[in-house]
Amino acid sequence: MDLALPEDEHPARSSFRSWLAEHPHPGPRDLAAAGYVAPHWPAPWGLDADPVAQLVIDDELRRAGVRRPSNQIGIGWAGPTLVHAGTEAQKERYLLPLLAGEEIWCQLFSEPGAGSDLAALSTRAVRDGDEWVVHGQKVWTSYAHVAALGILLARTDPDAPKHRGISYFICPMDAPGVTVRPIVDMTGEHTFNEVFPDGVRLPADNLVGEEHGGWALAKVTLGNERVSLSGEGALWGQGPTAADLLDLVRRAGGEADATLRQALVRVWAEGEILRLIRLRTVSAALSGRAPGPEASVRKALADDHGQRVMELATRLAGPYALLADGGPAEGLAAGAPAAAGGPPRTPTPAGWPSSAWAQGYLFSRALTIGGGTSEVQRNIIAERVLGLPHDVDVDAGRSRAGAPPAA
Ligand SMILES: Cc1cc2nc3c(=O)[nH]c(=O)nc-3n(C[C@H](O)[C@H](O)[C@H](O)COP(=O)(O)OP(=O)(O)OC[C@H]3O[C@@H](n4cnc5c(N)ncnc54)[C@H](O)[C@@H]3O)c2cc1C
Repeated sequence: MDLALPEDEHPARSSFRSWLAEHPHPGPRDLAAAGYVAPHWPAPWGLDADPVAQLVIDDELRRAGVRRPSNQIGIGWAGPTLVHAGTEAQKERYLLPLLAGEEIWCQLFSEPGAGSDLAALSTRAVRDGDEWVVHGQKVWTSYAHVAALGILLARTDPDAPKHRGISYFICPMDAPGVTVRPIVDMTGEHTFNEVFPDGVRLPADNLVGEEHGGWALAKVTLGNERVSLSGEGALWGQGPTAADLLDLVRRAGGEADATLRQALVRVWAEGEILRLIRLRTVSAALSGRAPGPEASVRKALADDHGQRVMELATRLAGPYALLADGGPAEGLAAGAPAAAGGPPRTPTPAGWPSSAWAQGYLFSRALTIGGGTSEVQRNIIAERVLGLPHDVDVDAGRSRAGAPPAA
């Protein structure tokens, strides 16, 4: 598996370097206007970059120390759907501020009675002249409290079969009738919310795609995943890894407890398997092969693995796990010498603050829920990879098929 990137001769590399010479301190707008925020999108919003060119551009940005603007749901999910199905006027209005991170987006999909079975959603949009009037309730809406705009699914034909009566809208979050209520999660952070659209009037131009054709677009949104060489962190690619934890133990002089040693080897082996699956996916993309079942298999394995890494870090932290800023380094340092005659333990930073483990332990409960629960992922693998019979409710679980983490 050769993942070496082409050096100087690749045209994407030379054209980025010439552009950077003309824009030595590029701002978010400059990057967006030049197509470097989402180079895999079609021009003029992106550069029609193939997977190799995308990776070359990522490499150049990293070398130049240039960070892309952040707008996870906008760039990751809303934007690609607008590129796919938006009108020219919608693309002109929304895409540049979205790419530049000037307008943050959120995803108004999940409802109290519609998560895995998203097509069961009951928020209603009723046509009234040139407007749609929306009533209902959304939940778990990440970033709704900071978002300027949201992609909204609402039922427009209650008499049609459930997948056929849904439409896809753009909802300004400051529209009269939108109420956002915070949900503080167990990490103590406020990232998601309940959202209550109550008589919100959306102009007819805010419909994306066909009336009642929203389900097909929801699948575009949920299935969109760009080729990425993003981190190997245990928390949806972020945060510390099993290897970081092992590093910490190694630098602290090792671990004498036999059950902890077994657990460490287990998470290390899982981490290696996940790294190889990821390389296989990237390698397939680089050689132009369609992605296989690796994405679902990887998510099913990675989510449980992330929880195990954080649970093990907590065991190593011992009583220090009770502190928001205590972690395995403190637990290891306070423990007995690692092995008879072995070197004494010393606290050694592993690149992550201790709070990353405490925070990670609490956040890791979300891994097996967001972006398609573990059970739903296993249903997908059972049906699509193993060829087993369909789930009893054939609609349930399809909605989140292949979806990346919602936020
Ligand atoms: C961190 C985080 C951020 C999120 N951000 C967003 C966001 O920005 N926007 C948004 O719209 N949503 C968001 N979500 C919501 C997320 O998409 C849903 O939580 C997820 O789809 C699961 O839906 P649910 O919570 O309604 O659980 P349910 O679907 O009610 O599931 C409950 C339980 O039943 C099981 N189950 C359900 N169906 C089946 C089946 N067919 N077979 C076997 N078991 C089944 C599930 O696995 C689960 O254990 C977020 C969630 C998290 C954790």
